[in-house]
Amino acid sequence: MRNPLRSLAARITLLVFAATILSSLTVSWISVQSLDGFLRRKVDQRFPQVASRIVEELDHWYTLRTREVEVFAGSDILTESAPELDARGRRGDRARDEAEQYLRYVLESFPQFDRLVIATADGTPRLEVGPGDPLPGGFLASNTRPTEHASISRSFRYGQRLVQIASAPMRDTEQRTIARLHAMLDLSHLDALLKSEELGDSANVFIVDPDHRFMDPPEGIDPDARWQGDRAERAHATAVAYYDDPFGEKVIGTSVSFPRFDWTLVIEQSYDEAFAPIVSSMSRVAGWNVAIVLGVGLLAFRIAGSIVKPLEALSDAASRLSQGEREVEIEEGFYGTEEVHVLTKTFNQMSRGLGRSARELEENQREIEIANQRLLSKNEELSNMNLVLEQLSITDGLTKLHNHRYFQDALAAECKRASRSGEPLCLVLIDIDYFKRWNDRLGHAGGDEILRRLAEVLNQHCRETDLLARYGGEEFAILAIDTDLVGAAALGEKVRQSVAESELVTDVPSEKEPLTISVGVAAYAGDRKRLFVDADAALYAAKDAGRNQVVVSPPATDASRIDPSEYADDA
Ligand code: GH3
Ligand code: MG
Ligand code: MG
Repeated sequence: MRNPLRSLAARITLLVFAATILSSLTVSWISVQSLDGFLRRKVDQRFPQVASRIVEELDHWYTLRTREVEVFAGSDILTESAPELDARGRRGDRARDEAEQYLRYVLESFPQFDRLVIATADGTPRLEVGPGDPLPGGFLASNTRPTEHASISRSFRYGQRLVQIASAPMRDTEQRTIARLHAMLDLSHLDALLKSEELGDSANVFIVDPDHRFMDPPEGIDPDARWQGDRAERAHATAVAYYDDPFGEKVIGTSVSFPRFDWTLVIEQSYDEAFAPIVSSMSRVAGWNVAIVLGVGLLAFRIAGSIVKPLEALSDAASRLSQGEREVEIEEGFYGTEEVHVLTKTFNQMSRGLGRSARELEENQREIEIANQRLLSKNEELSNMNLVLEQLSITDGLTKLHNHRYFQDALAAECKRASRSGEPLCLVLIDIDYFKRWNDRLGHAGGDEILRRLAEVLNQHCRETDLLARYGGEEFAILAIDTDLVGAAALGEKVRQSVAESELVTDVPSEKEPLTISVGVAAYAGDRKRLFVDADAALYAAKDAGRNQVVVSPPATDASRIDPSEYADDA
């Protein structure tokens, strides 16, 4: 199977994907890190700041309450009526009424106070104002201390509520303590202080006593449970600590001591909520990252495709070109990039150029083939003409017999052959008798006609192997191959007879006289010239002897005369 990673498009897409993922992850990691650092710094600063501010506000709240109790205890109405509270009769009633009226007014005007009690120095109540049942006996003695100045007791539970008692001495004009004013503080008013808008509702602000007991245990916490934020306590107002709360949840916490009551103010917030911005920004970043990676990946895929597609078209076209296809063209301006466009254009030009060259080559080849054909046919014509010329050069134009030159060559060759093989060879020379006269009578053309007819007659009597030629003007020669002198003499005689008997000139009405020939015959005896001389001599002898006859030259070895007429019928 083809490895998909070998495709250029896949590689580019993968590379861009990897690069985008890598850069996204890096950017995300850096942004999360810096956001985390930023939040940590913020938390480190803000928690102790908020805690200190709340402690200041608490202190201020207690200072105000102390002052108020001091002011009430020093009011004329109370200091004047206090000594009379135990008095009987109208004085006592009036004093009690006035003091009670004052205290009721105070309770109405200052909701932080729950119950006001004027008591003796040892804590025995003399006048008590406030909702619900009066305080049990010994309550004040056990929960307050008779101090010189105004003070606030430790906190303790009274019924369902957490309370503290603010006390101040009441003095007469000579500054002697005549009684004490106790005000029960409604600590639910602290709830408004134990909150931080800056940290939001998810932050818990609470107070623990030196034993780490919750002053007002948060919801879900056992009232006897103890706070376990040792680490927060160690961080103490300078930084925050990270630890698990009693529910096992990871929290960030800090604590500040509240020296007025030896308390510790604690601020805790769930880690997840404190760092919620990281989570939300991380999920936002992750969302954007995925979108960016997908978008860039898609874009890379499209771009890679736009690069690869024309390359594929190019390679396809190139392979078609290599397989011999002509004028292969790729659609131009079809895909994106400039480089690919230039490549495509160049390829097309190259392909067109190749096509043109191939066409020209073909045309040239065709022309060469045609020229070759012409040359061949010309050659054939030439060789035919050569043949004809050759034929003409060895043929006599008038009689169409072999001419003198050919005869000479053939004679030389045949003599050689006869010498080698020892076969007999004879020469028969023929001359027309009184041809001049025939010429004179019939004209030169008539003489020519006679020559032609005579050639035909001679041809009829010659064998296939005999070589007949027009040797001169009106002289003919027969080279009788493989024929002895007797046979040649018979041939001469036969020819002479048929010429004499054939009426070669009968179509000329005025001529009654027949045309005759004289014949000289000689045999080859090893000397070509001698053969010719002998035959010629025999021919002359025939002329001399009265013409129209055959004379045979005596053989070189045998001088006896051969009478051709003796052999005429045998031939
Ligand atoms: P003879 O019997 O002695 O041979 O007498 P002749 O008249 O034939 O004498 P000779 O052989 O000497 O003369 C040959 C003549 O043949 C001379 C010439 O006018 C004639 N002749 C030679 N060639 C041609 C030719 O091609 N055409 C024609 N019409 N006449 C020719
Ligand atoms: Mg002659
Ligand atoms: Mg003659």
